[in-house]
Order: sequence, then structure tokens, then C-alpha cells
Amino acid sequence: MHPVRVRSIHNRPQQQGPVVYWMHRELRAADNWALIHARELAAERGQPLCVVVCLARRFGLAACPHFAFLVHGLRETARALTTLGIPLALLRGEPGRAVPEFVRSVRAGLLLTDADPTRPKRQWLAEALPRLDLPVLEVDGRNIVPARAASDKREYMARTLRPKIQRLLPEFLDEFPVLPHQADAQTVPWTTPLPRPDWDALAREFGPPPAAFPPGEAAARARLGAFLAQGLPRYADDRNTPVAPAGSLLSPYLHFGQVSAQRVALSVLAARDIPPEARDGFLEQLIVRRELAENFCLHTPDYDTPAAFPAWARATLEKHSRDPRPHLASEAELLAGETPDPLWNAAQRQLLATGHMHGWLRMYWAKQVLLWSPDAATALERCLRLNDGLSLDGREVNGYAGLAWSIGGVHDRPWPERAVFGTVRSMTFSGARRKFDVAALVERWGGGRADRRQGKLP
Ligand SMILES: Cc1cc2nc3c(=O)[nH]c(=O)nc-3n(C[C@H](O)[C@H](O)[C@H](O)COP(=O)(O)OP(=O)(O)OC[C@H]3O[C@@H](n4cnc5c(N)ncnc54)[C@H](O)[C@@H]3O)c2cc1C
Repeated sequence: MHPVRVRSIHNRPQQQGPVVYWMHRELRAADNWALIHARELAAERGQPLCVVVCLARRFGLAACPHFAFLVHGLRETARALTTLGIPLALLRGEPGRAVPEFVRSVRAGLLLTDADPTRPKRQWLAEALPRLDLPVLEVDGRNIVPARAASDKREYMARTLRPKIQRLLPEFLDEFPVLPHQADAQTVPWTTPLPRPDWDALAREFGPPPAAFPPGEAAARARLGAFLAQGLPRYADDRNTPVAPAGSLLSPYLHFGQVSAQRVALSVLAARDIPPEARDGFLEQLIVRRELAENFCLHTPDYDTPAAFPAWARATLEKHSRDPRPHLASEAELLAGETPDPLWNAAQRQLLATGHMHGWLRMYWAKQVLLWSPDAATALERCLRLNDGLSLDGREVNGYAGLAWSIGGVHDRPWPERAVFGTVRSMTFSGARRKFDVAALVERWGGGRADRRQGKLP
């Protein structure tokens, strides 16, 4: 593994004892740099390795379908780890306390964990580190070019990050090594029995996973295979067409770490007969845009507030804050997808029914909420609750960057001035009609009763 992927976040004297990998973002056995590194360090030290996952009581606005997706996927990951001789311990409770207790109970000598700049994960670490008296390493297994290596500051836009990523990509876009079997793991006595998950009880507790997205590493690979065959060849032409879209639909799997973006990129590069503009267009989203979102959250502590917007956007939104709104939407209207705009309703109903909304619609959807809210702060807060609470891929840096782009001009530039938006880029119903068959989309999602399986927003 490239040494830049790993950094020490808790400098304590080296100790004897098992190696523990606290997995919370990259929830997979395959193609996982933190797991690979943990395995190497355990072998060097002649110590056993175990993986620990802690299911928090609450995670932001995550609801039952999100936990179900996680738990069902994790069950498969635990099986894959077992075949590698690596046990998985599952904890419940507050991770910042439960993980240090676990680490103490097994007398671990070294802890590794996933890098993640989002606030709940920062809080977990802030609580955990003072309770830990062993070295802790953080591994960036999410980004192909590790976020801290790509840039040490908040990038202005994709144009400024792209050359930095492109320069470093050959160094990092390499094949994963095969993870060797941990032959002696079962024979090394753990000081206490590891807490084994009761998967059936968890499945009953969280219910079935969302029908539109079967969870797990195998399902992610199947979806990738289908995309390479059917979506990727026409990605350049149809990516932004919400009717018969060409997108990969991999975002929930990427968000829960059930597939590695590096594996997706390697598979795309190995695919045959793909038009170069389709391949490059997809890699731009998967690598540059996705890693730009990580850069945004890593270097912007208030990434989910208007304080994260650039000064020009804050000023123009303030200047237009008293502009009359064409409509003031209520929370209930938004949640149910019952606004006066049939396209917006179709987008919201797709989200309610499937836990997913097409990428182009997401931009339009967030911008209309700005138009119908008393101010930008309220619009952002409403979109965050809807996106994080209903989208399977929500609570993700891509979402925070996408909302900040749509409402607050982050990673964008000023556009001609309009009511309410000021110089933040606007999107209109008539613009959508020129782009794709709006009536077909409305017929697909807008006619029927919304499926509320995703549950109510908290
Ligand atoms: C308002 C708004 C909210 C969004 N919320 C989320 C969210 O909660 N979670 C999420 O993963 N993405 C979010 N996005 C980004 C993007 O819309 C989705 O990643 C994409 O639509 C997912 O569908 P896909 O997997 O078919 O994408 P594809 O087009 O197949 O792209 C492949 C992967 O590249 C990444 N990607 C694609 N577009 C972007 C982008 N614009 N920014 C960053 N990464 C990107 C995603 O990981 C995606 O799965 C949001 C965008 C906007 C404008």
C-alpha cells in the first residue's frame, strides 16, 4: 500500500497485542486498503487481526432502510472475512466509547480506522482518542488519490483539483494485492470472547433492505457488471437524461463502502469497446467530482451550513433575500411531493419510492427548494433533511458538496442575475423540457401514490 494513504492520528508507544481494524466507512472485505494494511502489520508483528464494527444508536438522519442496507451487506462481508480467517466483532452503542472499551478488553496493541471528514465520524474519533492508550492509524481507502495527498487546501472548483488528481493518479491507481489467509487467527487465544453478531436478530430489527438496491459486495459487483455492459457505452450521451438514464446507480454501494471506487475505475479502464468520451466522462464523476466533494468536507468544517458558501454567493443570496417567492412550500408539501411543479414532484416521488434520485434531477430539485423557501439557510436545512433522511446514498460528502453547489454556488461561478437566486446558477422547468421528455418522467413517478416505505423524516 502507498504509505501516503496512512497517517498516525494518535501517537502512543508501540505495544504488543492484537491488531484491530475499526471499520466504519469502507464496509467491505474486498479491495480495502485499511484491511490490507492491518493484515500486513498484524503479520509483521506476529499478532492476530480482527475487524470491529460499531452500530451507532443514531447516525444523523439515517433511518431503518439505511441500517438494513448496512447490516445485510455487513453480514456478507463478515462471511468473506471468515473465509480469510479474520473475525468480525459487532458492537452496539456509542462508537466513541464502545470501541475503546473493546480495544481494552482484547488488549490490542494497534488500532487502524477509516479516514472520514464528516462531522459524526470526527466526533466519534474525538471521543475515542482520549480513551485509547495505543497508537492509532487512519487509512484513506475511499479516495483513489488520498484526499490529503491531492491537496492541502479547499479547492476552488473541479478545474483547480483536476490537474492535481491527474498528476498523482498513475501513482495511486494500482491493482490491489491479494489478501492472504490469516491461518493462525482461530488458534490465537483472544483475552475475551469476541462479540459475535446475531444477524437474524438484526435483520428482524431493521427490516428488509430497500427493494431497488439489494445490498452487499456481490450485489455491488453485479451492478458494476451491468453498468459496464449497458450504461457505460452510452454514458456520454445519456448521463443527464432522467428518462432511461445511463448512470451506474453505484452511489449507495460506494457510500456504504460495499465497493471500492478504485475497483470501479480499474474495471472501467479494462472494459473493451467503450467510447473514450463515455469512459472519460464517467471517470470525471467517479474520481474528480467525488474527490472534490471529499476535499470540500475535509477543508470546510461547516460544510453543511451557509457559512460554507463562497462570499459572492452569500452576498447575492442576502441581497435577494426579500425578493417575492413564486411559491412558499410547506415541509409537508415537499416531503409528499405535492408542490405545484410536477417535475419536482416526480423527482421527490422517485426518491420516496426507491431511495434514489437521478443526478440531474437532484440539482433541479435543490434549486427549486431555494426558490420556494424564505431564505437560503432554510432551503439548505430542508434539503439536507430530505436528502440525508430519504436517500440511500445520503449522509455523504457528495451530498454536502452537491447541496452547497446547488444552493450556495460552491465549486461554481456567478451567473447572470435573477430574482431569488441572485447570481447563483438557476435551473428552470422550461430548461428541463428542452433537455428531456418531462411528461414521460412525470407519468412514471408523478401519477401514482408515493411509496412511503422509506418512512417519515425525523
Ligand atoms: C443536490 C445534490 C445532492 C446530492 N446528494 C448526493 C448524495 O447524497 N450522495 C451521493 O453519493 N451523491 C450525491 N450527489 C451527487 C450525484 O448526483 C450522485 O452521486 C449521482 O447522481 C449518483 O448516481 P450514480 O451512482 O448513478 O452516478 P454515476 O453518474 O454513475 O457516477 C458514478 C459515481 O461518481 C460519483 N459522482 C457522480 N456525480 C457526482 C457529483 N456530482 N459529485 C460527487 N460525486 C459524484 C458518485 O459516487 C457516483 O456513484 C448529489 C448531487 C446533488 C446536485
